Amino acid sequence: MVDEDTLSSVLSDFARTLITDFPIQGILDHLVERIVDVLAVTAAGVTLISPGMAPHYVAASDADALDFERLQTQLGQGPCLVAYQTGEAVSVPDMRRDDRFPEFAPAALAAGMGAVFAFPLRHGDGRLGALDLYRDTPGVLDPRDMAAAQTLADVAAAYLLNAQARQEALEISDRFRTSALHDALTGLPNRVLLQQRLEHAAQRAHRSHSQAAVLFADLDRFKWVNDTYGHPFGDELLIAVARRLSAVVRPGDTLARVSGDEFVILCEDLAHVSDVVSLARRVDEAFAQPFDLAGTQVAMTVSVGIAYSGPGETVTDQLITHADLAMYQAKRLGGATHHVIDLRGASSAGDRNRLDRDLRSAMAGGHLDLAYQPIVRTADGALVGAEALLRWTHPTHGAVPALTTVSIAEQNGLISGIGAWVLERSCRDRGRWLAAHPGQPLDVSVNISVRQLMSAGFATTVAKILDATRMDPAALVLELTEGVFIEDGNRATSVLADLKGMGVRLALDDFGSGYCSLGYLRRFPVDTIKIDQGFVADIGHDPSGAAIVAAVSNLAHVLGLTVTAEGIETEQQHDAVAGIGCEHAQGFLYSHPVPASSILALLRTGLDFSVPRPGLTGEHAPQGTGQQRAAVEEDLGAA
Ligand code: C2E
Ligand code: MG
Ligand code: MG
Repeated sequence: MVDEDTLSSVLSDFARTLITDFPIQGILDHLVERIVDVLAVTAAGVTLISPGMAPHYVAASDADALDFERLQTQLGQGPCLVAYQTGEAVSVPDMRRDDRFPEFAPAALAAGMGAVFAFPLRHGDGRLGALDLYRDTPGVLDPRDMAAAQTLADVAAAYLLNAQARQEALEISDRFRTSALHDALTGLPNRVLLQQRLEHAAQRAHRSHSQAAVLFADLDRFKWVNDTYGHPFGDELLIAVARRLSAVVRPGDTLARVSGDEFVILCEDLAHVSDVVSLARRVDEAFAQPFDLAGTQVAMTVSVGIAYSGPGETVTDQLITHADLAMYQAKRLGGATHHVIDLRGASSAGDRNRLDRDLRSAMAGGHLDLAYQPIVRTADGALVGAEALLRWTHPTHGAVPALTTVSIAEQNGLISGIGAWVLERSCRDRGRWLAAHPGQPLDVSVNISVRQLMSAGFATTVAKILDATRMDPAALVLELTEGVFIEDGNRATSVLADLKGMGVRLALDDFGSGYCSLGYLRRFPVDTIKIDQGFVADIGHDPSGAAIVAAVSNLAHVLGLTVTAEGIETEQQHDAVAGIGCEHAQGFLYSHPVPASSILALLRTGLDFSVPRPGLTGEHAPQGTGQQRAAVEEDLGAA
């Protein structure tokens, strides 16, 4: 029989242990364990009951008691259930003589049980479950033990209620946190969680001088998939992509879906920058096999931009912006590729937001300029054209790479304005060259970015500029990259048809650097392809270099297109592309990009590149004879 002291010591022990955030199961375990210590019983068990559901929580002091608890629930019969239902204690002092539980009793007797006493776990008018005390010999339980058991059951119930409330609150906040921080479609972390992880990475990098990197991946032609197969299919595809990407990230990296078809991988604690490059390769490989969605096969490619911070350098969300920027460059090249942008210097010197602001004022304040790179006829080295290249000299950063300027402008919406300015300036400069040298009409090539071509009213703008500058449309070459075709091929086709209608010529720039589908050449009305300087650079190093240039060039000729080889730096490369039959070429061998006035000088003297001039490098140091150089310097002085 339990005495007052023992009971109060059990209760205070209960209180001490359970007052904090003991979980539900812990409370039940503690209850059954303590109760067999203080009462004259063989075993104890407890079951929490939720109507209509299998019990979640069961505890017992030994294996037999656990079986008895389960058995009662399975049979839907037993003292435990009666105590739960009635809210009253149930005594079965002699199992052999009790007929209330015809199915439970034989099983209990067979297992050697003599008596059971069940106590409801009460709270107000309701019940949470019941506590069972088991004894192997028949006989009543002392009334004071009965009272003590009910007291312990009631106290346990009070703690259980608390624990349940705590658990529910936790589940709700968990659910809330999960939905606020995860993307509903793929279950991946969303932009908010990515931001948090980035802040975390920033703190870590600060402490440990480690590096971090961000990979920004954007699916190519996702819009086309949505338009062709419908949005539910597009959703399935995104889920499948998320699954494949999840399989390639390293443990500890964060893979997030930040919008429609854009995924970001944040790599913290990079030992080496090469880790990111191999991750990028794994991302590429993840897209090697087509996706099979309910029997429909779709081949997808992805454009990836990568940016990383230097060791110990401040990691900020600029890293994502930079990776995004790099991704745009991958897109610009036609997608299906990755591009690493190393803006580590730029990111510490000044952030991109500032570049963004400064570009607006550069545009308004007339701080943008153009350089022209001569294009020569390979057969005789004659100057036949010039490509306009955007130049922005930032007051503190100095020369900003053209690609950086263009991608900032593409993202902040300045591209149409800047592009129109480039086009008009080029047409006017060409007009001046022609006025000075009427016998030597030059073609002028102008680069057009994807956003610019797709922007509303682009063809109309071109028509107006041609008109205002009295430019011969046939002398204007618009250079496009394959990126134009991967986003929205239909729209591209119609804009290009409008441009062709005006008599303008079209060139496919950097051919071969991206997705490189020869199909584009047949579908889109281009006149010229410009073979990417990457292939030309291989000539002389890699035996396949010249072979690829020859293959592409032959194919273009079969289709009736002319070929320009880019990035000619050596005489060997010149000889190779001339031998292959590329009509035109440009590169540092002939001339670096030069100011408009230098083109006038070159028209006067002609280009002579047969004597490469070592030591004369840099943008404003054209190659050529001493006579040419003098003429150019004279022009530069005059400008
Ligand atoms: P691009 O149209 O392929 O222009 C050729 C780029 O290669 C130029 O870089 C030029 O300076 C460089 N280059 C020329 N010859 C050689 C050579 O022999 N060796 C090497 N290594 N490089 C050579 P730049 O000026 O930095 O322009 C980069 C890209 O930026 C251009 O590639 C073009 O896609 C884009 N871009 C330039 N200006 C404009 C513009 O006004 N509008 C648009 N949308 N894009 C522009
Ligand atoms: Mg170009
Ligand atoms: Mg090019």
